[in-house]
Amino acid sequence: MTNKIKSSNKLIDNKLADCRQTKTRRGVLLVLENSQPLAAPEILARLKENNVVVNKTTVYRELDFLLSKKVIAAVILKDGLKRYELQASEHGHHLICLQCQKIERVALDNDLDKQEKAITRSRGFKVLNHSLEFYGLCRHCVKK
Ligand SMILES: [Zn+2]
Ligand SMILES: [Zn+2]
Repeated sequence: MTNKIKSSNKLIDNKLADCRQTKTRRGVLLVLENSQPLAAPEILARLKENNVVVNKTTVYRELDFLLSKKVIAAVILKDGLKRYELQASEHGHHLICLQCQKIERVALDNDLDKQEKAITRSRGFKVLNHSLEFYGLCRHCVKK
């Protein structure tokens, strides 16, 4: 068995190059790699489905660690629930289907650069970050 994290994501492999490969770490990354953003209890459930035996505290600690390494990112939507996704290389926003609860990621051309500059000009407020979600119906639910 190799000691290195091997995912299909080069970015993640690089970030974790110096870190120990643990069963929990590999399991969490694999679950998030193949999924929309998930809350901690959902991650635990998926790990169980994949027959990865883990302790709840270990998983929570692992999530904090991966967050601190910027390998994963926290996603907090209107429901206030904290979900996690793999850190994407490009800035993005989420589309949330109100029917099936599916969460998709989307990148916007030019994003909100213009609006942010206008805010700084008119309000003297330096924007460091923003959060923006779109709620609606996904391509499957819109047909129903
Ligand atoms: Zn839907
Ligand atoms: Zn944005």
